[in-house]
Amino acid sequence: MSRLMVIGCGGVASVAIHKVCQNDGVFDELMIASRTKAKCDALKEKLEGTTKTKITTAQIDADDTKALTELIESYRPDAVLNVALPYQDLTIMDACLAAGVHYIDTANYEPENTDDPEWRKIYEKRCKELGFSAYFDYSWQWAYEEKFKEAGLTALLGTGFDPGVTSVFAAYAKKHYFDEIETIDILDCNGGDHGYAFATNFNPEINLREVSAPGSYMENGKWVEIPAMSIKREYDFEGVGKKDMYLLHHEEIEALGRNMPEVKRIRFFMTFGQSYLDHMRCLEDVGMLSTTPIQYNGQEIVPIQFLKALLPDPASLGPRTKGKTNIGCIFTGMKDGKKRSIYIYNVCDHQECYREVGSQAISYTTGVPAMIGAMMVVSGQWKKPGVFTTDEFDPDPYMEALNKWGLPWKVVENPVLVD
Ligand code: NDP
Repeated sequence: MSRLMVIGCGGVASVAIHKVCQNDGVFDELMIASRTKAKCDALKEKLEGTTKTKITTAQIDADDTKALTELIESYRPDAVLNVALPYQDLTIMDACLAAGVHYIDTANYEPENTDDPEWRKIYEKRCKELGFSAYFDYSWQWAYEEKFKEAGLTALLGTGFDPGVTSVFAAYAKKHYFDEIETIDILDCNGGDHGYAFATNFNPEINLREVSAPGSYMENGKWVEIPAMSIKREYDFEGVGKKDMYLLHHEEIEALGRNMPEVKRIRFFMTFGQSYLDHMRCLEDVGMLSTTPIQYNGQEIVPIQFLKALLPDPASLGPRTKGKTNIGCIFTGMKDGKKRSIYIYNVCDHQECYREVGSQAISYTTGVPAMIGAMMVVSGQWKKPGVFTTDEFDPDPYMEALNKWGLPWKVVENPVLVD
């Protein structure tokens, strides 16, 4: 039995919280703490009566480490699941260390203000030394390794679908299917249609930053960076059909590149429709994706935050979204002296997710692994002192849990390869 604190109450959090409450044999107590308490109270009201989990709520600004430490100390959870925004990763890790509890998240740190000169200096040095220019990277959180080790605490980073499940798939392929993995292609296909000309499936600010940045992949231990959206492939996905997909930078490339240095090439592809790309390009061209504040009518506004206010709330897409996602990894390599290739993947149906938990499949495919990651830590199956990504533990109990909690996966031999 365990007590969990969830920080954030948006699209992903809502699914994770539904799943925590379904899993009331493991999580008997839950605190939902977020910036807007009314959202936490509404979710508590919806779920009470459907679960044995005892739910409490709290208002918190997770940027305020001191206030958060006090809240954690007063509730005394076994672990904190951070499903707020990547901006809060470091302050929440600091609070977990101060209060002595385990930490779990779904996305690696990036700063809210990318013009901050202090951050910029470190970022530019990193770009030059490592060769990729994404705003997010693991260095900030890996720097907590010694602190978590000394405190005897676990920090589990990036337990969403991608990153998260995709890295568990890599550990599973390595353990059961290959003597040596040579290449990994991570494919993220969303065949869902929400009927809007333009909307993002998760937090618009985070999503648009990721998609409009240069792409990059790892080859022979080195980053190769390419202009945004400049490598395009078509792939025929089970449950979805043929889709255009584009090479993006993605955080699991960094973690897998470090933890599986024998892999010769690691790439990440995501599907996009033409309408999404046209809108994004236009918004970028007119400056709407900028994170630099501007003065408007005597008030300071950040263009991308203003855009977020105009776009549909991703949490509201659930009832409108139809179709499926297909997310997985193609591995090639050697087994028993012979060449082998497999695709490990999950197909998820937007409408089925909506019927079960009131959310579309992007929130679902992230929220379920967030709960599973928290379960792995509090149950002791994935508990060791330090800072880890999901490829650094035994994948078997996690893979079992995916089948049990709504994200069943398949392994197909000899899939069509990307190139
Ligand atoms: P949302 O914007 O829907 O939700 C974010 C929540 O965090 C909101 O409830 C928001 O509060 C709350 N929040 C924001 N700032 C603070 C703060 N300072 N203190 C306390 N609470 C705060 O985002 P999503 O649910 O779409 O995404 C959540 C996380 O999941 C993100 O980190 C995202 O990158 C990650 N993600 C990971 C994926 C993966 O596969 N690994 C895929 C998709 C998302 P309020 O309600 O007041 O706005």
